[in-house]
Amino acid sequence: MAFDGEQWLSKDPEIARLINQETKRQRTTLQLIASENFTSPAVMAATGSTLTNKYSEGYPGRRYYGGNQIIDEVEDLARERLKALFGAEHANVQPHSGANANLAAYMALLDPGDTILAMRLDQGGHLTHGSPASLTSKIYHFVSYGLTPRSNDADILGEVIDLDQVRDLALAERPKLIVAGATAYARTIDARDYRSIADEVGAYFMFDAAHPAGLIAGGAHPSPVGIADVVTFTTHKTLRGPRGGAILCREALAKKVDSAVFPGLQGGPLEHAIAAKAVAFKEANTPAFESYAHQVVANAAALGHALTREGFRLISGGTDNHLVLLDLTTFDGELTGKEAQEAMDAAGITANRNTIPDDPRSPFITSGLRLGTAAETTAGMGCDEMATIASLITRALRARHDLSQLASIRDEVAALCGRFDPYPEFGA
Ligand SMILES: *Cc1c(COP(=O)(O)O)cnc(C)c1O
Repeated sequence: MAFDGEQWLSKDPEIARLINQETKRQRTTLQLIASENFTSPAVMAATGSTLTNKYSEGYPGRRYYGGNQIIDEVEDLARERLKALFGAEHANVQPHSGANANLAAYMALLDPGDTILAMRLDQGGHLTHGSPASLTSKIYHFVSYGLTPRSNDADILGEVIDLDQVRDLALAERPKLIVAGATAYARTIDARDYRSIADEVGAYFMFDAAHPAGLIAGGAHPSPVGIADVVTFTTHKTLRGPRGGAILCREALAKKVDSAVFPGLQGGPLEHAIAAKAVAFKEANTPAFESYAHQVVANAAALGHALTREGFRLISGGTDNHLVLLDLTTFDGELTGKEAQEAMDAAGITANRNTIPDDPRSPFITSGLRLGTAAETTAGMGCDEMATIASLITRALRARHDLSQLASIRDEVAALCGRFDPYPEFGA
């Protein structure tokens, strides 16, 4: 199970062995973490290139170091490809991560102490949306909105973003910034709903597209670009690029955004990662990626449907995107998210536990599970495989106290993964 570039690590067999083990884990077990994907070998080649050696503080044409002529071309290509992919006026490709992109956007638009209206963490928001544990909550004043209550009426969709609450809070609190976007929310977030509220109260509007960026690029989720003042996202989730972040905005905010990223928040950019982002943006601007994005969504729907038949309840009543949030309590009242994650790990199925709305259990234990289809769709799986996965998950959770059954499910998982190898280029 060799990875590309193993020959260069012959003098460091410890790390070479660990990388090989991780490559093998990714190829022989099911990757259902909603924020993960398999990047192409081309993306990894750029990430592992000599560009990692170069210091290039500043922006193309305005660097603080010499020798950046070629780096300037790399970063310009990345910016132009990104603008073309999303139809944006301005792009910043330097944020080291999604969290940094969010911090930079806040810094560009706000002063310390300003009010931000964002989604509640325990209902799907992200740490950088004002968690007490995050620096964001120490610098800014956060007010949070959540989901509508669970509905028992088949005609009313429950557990969806409560836009009336967003508007009421916006009118009462007069935030300077309203943030849309979530880390565990299975429904489409329409930027236009937020735009009208932001306009009503004179707030900026930021759309954190960390999760759906690839679906937006592939036309499988409506685009917030041109509607939100600033769009931030990660490049490594559904967009299938290297680990990193990016920011899109109108030309009018370009200067503020750029100076917030550098020198406001970061030092030298990771030009090897920026080259890899450029590779991913090119890959994402193809008909093949468009079909990929739509297949990701179809697969999540198929997975959700099959799990519903097994007795699980889907938070928000279903899914429009790449992820499924499961309420485990309808399947087995004794089963916690933590136990489910551990049993699935033993069966070779990797996912993460998640709080559900009004979760009676602590965030460390939880009553929910978050599953995503972005990675295994890259590996070539379709709706038939999603039904198989639903049955493997169900069996693993029923057999969670039986180690030998979990081991035999793990063999079935490995056989399935063998038919859908994300890296056939690496050989057996
Ligand atoms: C993943 C995520 C981020 C942060 O991305 P990192 O690259 O992990 O810093 C920010 N916002 C949302 C909504 C996310 O889901």
